[in-house]
Amino acid sequence: MKATDYADIVSPLLTWYAANGRDLPWRNTRDPYRIWLSEIMLQQTRVEAVKGYYARFLKALPSLADLAAAEEEQLLKLWEGLGYYSRVRNMQKAARVVMEEYGGALPADHDALLGLCGIGPYTAAAIASIAFSIPKAVVDGNVLRVFTRVCADATDIGDAQFKKAVAQKLDAIIPTEEPGTFNQAMMDLGAMVCAPGQIPRCDICPLSSFCRAHLAHEETAYPVRSKAKPRKIEKMTVFLIRDGENYAIRKRQERGLLAGMYEPVHTSGWLDEEEALTFIKGLHLDPLHIERIEDAVHIFTHKEWHMRAYEIRVGSLPGKEPQGLVFADPTQMRQTYPLPSAFAVYKKHMGVL
Ligand code: SF4
Repeated sequence: MKATDYADIVSPLLTWYAANGRDLPWRNTRDPYRIWLSEIMLQQTRVEAVKGYYARFLKALPSLADLAAAEEEQLLKLWEGLGYYSRVRNMQKAARVVMEEYGGALPADHDALLGLCGIGPYTAAAIASIAFSIPKAVVDGNVLRVFTRVCADATDIGDAQFKKAVAQKLDAIIPTEEPGTFNQAMMDLGAMVCAPGQIPRCDICPLSSFCRAHLAHEETAYPVRSKAKPRKIEKMTVFLIRDGENYAIRKRQERGLLAGMYEPVHTSGWLDEEEALTFIKGLHLDPLHIERIEDAVHIFTHKEWHMRAYEIRVGSLPGKEPQGLVFADPTQMRQTYPLPSAFAVYKKHMGVL
């Protein structure tokens, strides 16, 4: 399909957006820091859920300088529940570079943005176009769905080269005066009209008169996506070790999944009661009572945790806390220790949620 064919989408799309675009907190600003923050949060969470996190984060860290200077635990606490914690860590790394190399202001340059830690093509294009009016198109799942339907393009959207090619094609038609508006219009059309997981609302779509998939009554034949690999299942046993009102938590390693977060003690495999008690004794704790509690499953992008759990009351501890454990009550956990949502069922059990 030639650019001249789908260049027709620009005008009706902008007209539609002027009347129907969503009024979102991060739409009332051209502050690159705020736009950056919203785009990172939106990569993993629904718009409605992001609103609260966005407001809370900005209240605590209103500027890029504040983000650069924040303590790690405050950062993880503000992100608690959003998942993908490496994203906020990368934001802080990038913010520190911006403080040192760009005088504290995100650069008004697409390639320089792309060079910052954690800023990929989508986020760079979003910041560049919305904050600085640089004509770079965003391409994500929503945009790919609209594009492949309008063009009736059956290329696998999991193909990175295809994504690049779509970005180039949209860069060729994005209006130079208001590129950010065009990108936001594509985002909203893909979220509200040509939406995922439901029948597209072609009856109200501004692109219906030239959308090839619609004209052929084959809307749901696109986008084409190769099957994802099945997720790896990891069985584990979680121990809610309790001493009075306090529960034991420990800090995860500084690298990898959920790095630097706190968690209840757990081990791989499903242990029966006897094995669980032996495990607890191995931590130099004195188990007084054990009770099997609710099982839970948490799904990550590439793996699933299938958790069996016990609450174990332990005897009064000698002065030194064993094995790097911290004993904290629910209020302390809420206020100080970032605990990932992967343990939501057990956070609830401990009274943290
Ligand atoms: S006409 Fe239908 S399939 Fe085509 S872009 Fe609009 S909503 Fe999507």
